[in-house]
Amino acid sequence: MIAPDLDTAVNALRGLIEGAERIVPFTGAGISTECGIPDFRSPGGFWTKNRPIQFDEFMASREARDESWRRRFAMLDEFGGAQPGRGHRALASLYRAGKVPGLITQNIDNLHQASGIAAEDVVELHGNTTYAVCLDCAKRYELTWVREKFEAAGERAPDCACGGYIKTATVSFGQAMPVLAMERAEELTRSSDLFLAIGSSLVVWPAAGFPLLAKRSGVPLVIINREPTEMDDLADLVVNLDIGDVLAPFIAH
Ligand SMILES: [Zn+2]
Repeated sequence: MIAPDLDTAVNALRGLIEGAERIVPFTGAGISTECGIPDFRSPGGFWTKNRPIQFDEFMASREARDESWRRRFAMLDEFGGAQPGRGHRALASLYRAGKVPGLITQNIDNLHQASGIAAEDVVELHGNTTYAVCLDCAKRYELTWVREKFEAAGERAPDCACGGYIKTATVSFGQAMPVLAMERAEELTRSSDLFLAIGSSLVVWPAAGFPLLAKRSGVPLVIINREPTEMDDLADLVVNLDIGDVLAPFIAH
């Protein structure tokens, strides 16, 4: 069913949520746009204007590493103060109510953790951009530290004490998907009894395979996204409305 209006959408969603015990949300950029973080993949978005730095370029070239950090700090100045939106808060409410065993996200903005979901219950398919790691020894670095070193060295990216390169903890274009996160996402999906795909255009693979896996595992699938997706035909409920409006009624105060 495609919900014709907000009331129908919220009522249908409420029925499904009340009847479920293991709800697994799967979120994409659309849940964070009301927080001021644009969808970089959208037409006119960041990636259509700035060619992404591929992982092998990052590894091969100091200039690429410097440029990658220059971009990261520019974005930090623009979006670093973003706070969780209504969608994040609604999902955190369901989590606190014990209905959400874990959440899968394509986002790298840390806003689910900021909304109160424990970091170990957020499965990040594309990593996290709010801290950095050494690609060799996996030591964690905070962005403030990297920035201090970067600026002190005249916009030169610092390296780890072990000699490895320091990169945001994201999965770059051309970088392998994180095996553990992919396995946990698959487990969560298979064992869920309601799968909510929220704010994802469902075109980026392999992430987009999870709603498909849910459906094939007999799990009711809900797609909430402002624009229609290619998987709408598969879904039990499709809501093409503003995500914050649709999820706000599920925020527990
Ligand atoms: Zn290291």
